[in-house]
Amino acid sequence: MPDNTNKIIIAIDGHSSCGKSTVAKAIAQKLNYIFIDSGAMYRAVTLYCLRHNLINNGIVNIPELRANLGKIKVSFSFNDKTNHNDIWLNGENVEQEIRLLTVSQNVSPVAAVAEVRHLLVALQQEMGKSKGIVMDGRDIGTVVFPEAELKLFMTAQPDVRAKRRFDELTAKGERVSYDEIKANIIGRDRYDETRDESPLRKADDAIIMDNSYMTREEQLEWILNRVVGI
Ligand code: C5P
Repeated sequence: MPDNTNKIIIAIDGHSSCGKSTVAKAIAQKLNYIFIDSGAMYRAVTLYCLRHNLINNGIVNIPELRANLGKIKVSFSFNDKTNHNDIWLNGENVEQEIRLLTVSQNVSPVAAVAEVRHLLVALQQEMGKSKGIVMDGRDIGTVVFPEAELKLFMTAQPDVRAKRRFDELTAKGERVSYDEIKANIIGRDRYDETRDESPLRKADDAIIMDNSYMTREEQLEWILNRVVGI
């Protein structure tokens, strides 16, 4: 039987594109924990919707999506080559495709559908049953793991976030404009914060981290210092 007595759950929520997944992955590696990017799950469902015409001009066909939910299988599988838990949608590795700007532009209305959230939250809670997990998203400390031992709320200035995301996408060869990215980041935050179902908000017991002027190493150290304090 694995000994999970000292393992904890680390919940990282916050605004779009402030590097939550990058830092969450680094902490998980350091602690030998599982890392789960819950946003990838919402993105995979969005990709399914885009491919099956369940979303048009930002409007989700909710009755059709509900009827199709049973056909959407989302899972993670560890990729030895990249050391990353890749996301799979119905037997296909979609790790790259879900990062496209068109998915970012459609994900928030899909993530606002209650049935989508119920399905994915149940999967996420199952993944955290044995603790030893770092999960990032928008509702991890409030809804998925309200009992998490360490909760962080990450943010950074919108211009800093837009620049980071712009550099990331252009480095991958995607042709995007800085203004389009900044508008997407601000729009997604607003959508996520104002939806009825599990809106993005800081859990009362979460610690705020503004990483606008922090390096990755500084962020990692900042968080690990808090883990030690538990
Ligand atoms: O984290 P990422 O930016 O990839 O998330 C994409 C979108 O998925 C968010 O903008 C939000 O709409 C949704 N999301 C969510 N709840 C989560 C994780 C992501 O609603 N736990």
